Amino acid sequence: MVDDPGLKALAEAARLSPDNLPLRRHLAEQLLGKGYLADAEAEFRAALVLAPKDPDIMAGLAEAFVRQSSYGEALSALEPLLSEGGYPPRIGVLAARALLGEGDLHKAAFRYHEAVSRDPSVADPELAARLAAPPVERVPETPAAAPAEEPEEAAYLAPSAVTHEQSTAEVERSKFSFADVAGMEDVKEALRVKLLLPIQQPELFAAFGKRAGGGVLLYGPPGAGKTHLARAAAGELGAAFVTVGLADILDMYVGSSERNLRATFDLARRHRPCVLFFDEVDALAGRRSDMRQTANRQLVNQFLAELDGVDQSANEGVLVLAATNAPWYIDVAFRRPGRFDQLVFVPPPDAEARAAILRILCRDKPLAEVDFAAVAKVTEQFVGADLKGVVDRAVEAKLQESIRAGRPIPLSTRDLLTAAKAARPTSVREWMATARNYVMHANESGAWDELMPYIQRKW
Ligand code: ADP
Repeated sequence: MVDDPGLKALAEAARLSPDNLPLRRHLAEQLLGKGYLADAEAEFRAALVLAPKDPDIMAGLAEAFVRQSSYGEALSALEPLLSEGGYPPRIGVLAARALLGEGDLHKAAFRYHEAVSRDPSVADPELAARLAAPPVERVPETPAAAPAEEPEEAAYLAPSAVTHEQSTAEVERSKFSFADVAGMEDVKEALRVKLLLPIQQPELFAAFGKRAGGGVLLYGPPGAGKTHLARAAAGELGAAFVTVGLADILDMYVGSSERNLRATFDLARRHRPCVLFFDEVDALAGRRSDMRQTANRQLVNQFLAELDGVDQSANEGVLVLAATNAPWYIDVAFRRPGRFDQLVFVPPPDAEARAAILRILCRDKPLAEVDFAAVAKVTEQFVGADLKGVVDRAVEAKLQESIRAGRPIPLSTRDLLTAAKAARPTSVREWMATARNYVMHANESGAWDELMPYIQRKW
């Protein structure tokens, strides 16, 4: 119970004018500042209802959670910001604290490192010490103080050097093919031409003097199916699939990230034909001009060097795909020929594609006659990941019902409609608004042509 008279008066004022956002925000901040964490949490939640996208309020709520050791909830509160890229650096530090609380040291270190590289004033020595302290046997072999000058592109580790470094990425055999990806016919066709035909019909390519190679950057709103598509491309091609998350690459120690990256490329090269997939690539391939720390710029240079390969055949049979929700943060150097020279937009599904996705997601479930078009109609703005949530929820409810009845009861249209009503689409509208801000007046080169019709529409 709050017993501070000043706070009590503020709380009373807020109670009398519940829609006064500045007042509520002020109250929440005061409560947080004075350590009334549960009250602060409640106030931030109330403020968030008034201003759902306010990053300061989200940050306040997350901090209240972190200080109550509710780390998972803190991360959920920050998720809308984190998934967009370009979030304020102090949000990254907060996320690092929450991730550390969850025991995810790698991701915590990355978030922290990335945030401080963008704004050194958010550094938190105590947190940095906790991130560096765990039982890692490696010793930083380069002094942490980074040289002030811009590194030459030659500062990377030579890709030809044989490495015995282990990559933490794993090699998968994908059980999906393009038949498991609903809609996106144009996207599949683009990938087929770029990735599959050169390998399936090399004579044809050779006849035209074209060489296989170069990567594809998939971009679009979170959950639209970029990872699923990459995995399906590997299956379609009969290639191994190596997926790389940030935690596989980033390391607090200068130099280690470069070695991890090289080890990952080598892993893919040892398993050719292979699709090497980088998720959240904006964090690895950000604009060097945005990076204050030399170490991060070196990582970008290393990435460029690996993409180029030491010679023409270095990456033969290795198809590099990358996904990002924030393509506008990618350094233009990545878009040169032979690197990620093709940008492919993975759009949110239209009604027809939603019906097809639902059909795929329900394929192996006990089904009554289901009107997928009807479910597609009420799930405007839902992306693949949202639809998967709807199906999971409907299946869960049906399972309970079947257990009670003692026999399997098939899933019906009504079950899916009920589950859809209870769900909300994640972030397509917000993503489109962000995309509009970035690309509307920056499409001179035509790089965003595919995206233009989408951002010009009302969402
Ligand atoms: P992203 O990488 O763009 O964030 P994901 O590939 O992780 O999105 O998509 C989340 C889930 O949604 C996938 O695991 C898959 O089950 C489903 N999904 C998305 N798009 C499709 C699609 N076109 N066809 C079938 N399933 C899809």
